[in-house]
Amino acid sequence: MLLRVAQTIADTEAEGPGKRFALWVQGCSLRCPGCCNPEMFAPDKGGALSEPAELAARILATPGIEGISVLGGEPFQQPEALAELCRLVQAGGRSVMIYTGYTLAELKALSSPHVDALLATVDLLVDGRYEQGQPETSRRWVGSRNQVMHFFSPRYARTEPRFWASNTVELRFENGQLTINGWPQAADAVRGR
Ligand code: SF4
Repeated sequence: MLLRVAQTIADTEAEGPGKRFALWVQGCSLRCPGCCNPEMFAPDKGGALSEPAELAARILATPGIEGISVLGGEPFQQPEALAELCRLVQAGGRSVMIYTGYTLAELKALSSPHVDALLATVDLLVDGRYEQGQPETSRRWVGSRNQVMHFFSPRYARTEPRFWASNTVELRFENGQLTINGWPQAADAVRGR
């Protein structure tokens, strides 16, 4: 059971609360118009296969992070491998935030043990398709107004000021390549919904 990963950033403050290990999964069949990560649509083109336990060990060994953020691609289209990864991360005392294009109701209606196992690891879920005609302008770390933040554990609360602060963008120049992550206005960035 392997997880196809499109990209990782080991230490970012632009993809959820606190310092986080961000992980973009490869593959999404939902194809929202305006998605800024179309290179992550194909499940079998791009990215690399990772063994969940090895990846979890790498995440847990990253100093100073409070959790992981999983973006995509569509995390719930690889629920078995991702549930194992997130279970290990949770057991290591770190938080789990996931962005999904499905609504929570759609995920529950699947009645899939792997989907349910993945949901059981989540502290904070951002759900729903990205709607490019409804850009979010007040909530932080959310792409469009239809999307809902689900606070499943006491670890985070929507009343925390950091959930209403301005969004953050990070630019990196590594190995001759410029990457942008976070929540910029422009669409040419590496980020989730
Ligand atoms: S916004 Fe998310 S759910 Fe929609 S196509 Fe892009 S990766 Fe898939």
